[in-house]
Amino acid sequence: MTATKEMNKIVVIMGSTGVGKSKLSIELATSFPSEIINCDKMQVYTGLDVTTNKLTPREQLGVAHHLLAHFDPAVSGEVSNANFRIAATSTASQIHSRRRIPIAVGGSTSFIHALVSADHDSPVETTNPDWILSISPSLRYDCCFIWVDVALPVLFDYLGVRLDDMINGGMFDELADFYNQYETYTSAPEGLRKSIGVPEFEDYFRRFGSVSQGDEVLTGDERKSMFEEARKATKDNTCELAKMQVEKIKRLKGIGWDIRRLDATEVFKAMLASDNKRALELWNKDVAEPAMEIVEAFLKD
Ligand code: ATP
Repeated sequence: MTATKEMNKIVVIMGSTGVGKSKLSIELATSFPSEIINCDKMQVYTGLDVTTNKLTPREQLGVAHHLLAHFDPAVSGEVSNANFRIAATSTASQIHSRRRIPIAVGGSTSFIHALVSADHDSPVETTNPDWILSISPSLRYDCCFIWVDVALPVLFDYLGVRLDDMINGGMFDELADFYNQYETYTSAPEGLRKSIGVPEFEDYFRRFGSVSQGDEVLTGDERKSMFEEARKATKDNTCELAKMQVEKIKRLKGIGWDIRRLDATEVFKAMLASDNKRALELWNKDVAEPAMEIVEAFLKD
């Protein structure tokens, strides 16, 4: 591979929430000289680390992560696709100048599009996935797109389990602190407040204040039922997000992006059956190893 060619390559890891994009990106980044550019719409902000599912510094295994917890939402306001394009373009060229490969990871189709598209004259700010049908497929980088996919019914079961783990693992307290700080949804900074979990828990925290904590959640009928309502809305909206993310990836494939799909469904079935050993074997066989081969071939080209 010539230096010029290398300077234009980007690996893009796509997929809906919960499918293991971050895990795969760390595995790739520890195998190839590369650095990660976060393309998740909510993880670009500081704050709500558990609610938005950011990798902890320990989980990042020393891999350089860019545009992760990068913008203070109280200062930046909502980061538009156009602003993301500016920040991500500069980040990608800095990574290239270190003779390393950017690995863009997300989440957000419109952020990925903002980073890689050759034509971003009319930035997209809509939730209707049909915007993709009207864009030009041309790219300004040589892109290797990898899509980690999980059959939706299996993913939905997993997202329910993950949400309970998140709630018990700090999300409830994080949201309590958030509402303690901002009192209402509309007084919270634009952008970050759209994180799934924030609007869904507003009524709960307005009614009960930010009195924390786990066990108390389960005492009192009204408290219990409002908590359950918020939990269910959070789960439903997470599943809806996953569904929309998959729709958008399919549309991008439809307009001609060469996206390689890796099916992680069996991995998640094993995880749901609490067979973690099998899940890891399947992950390596169905996702990690094929992804390594794809990236290796791409970098050699
Ligand atoms: P669009 O701009 O078309 O809405 P997108 O592809 O740019 O879509 P998504 O990543 O699909 O953006 O995010 C859509 C919405 O999903 C966000 O506005 C937010 O409400 C929620 N969301 C996305 N990522 C997260 C996250 N990490 N944590 C919590 N909520 C999230």
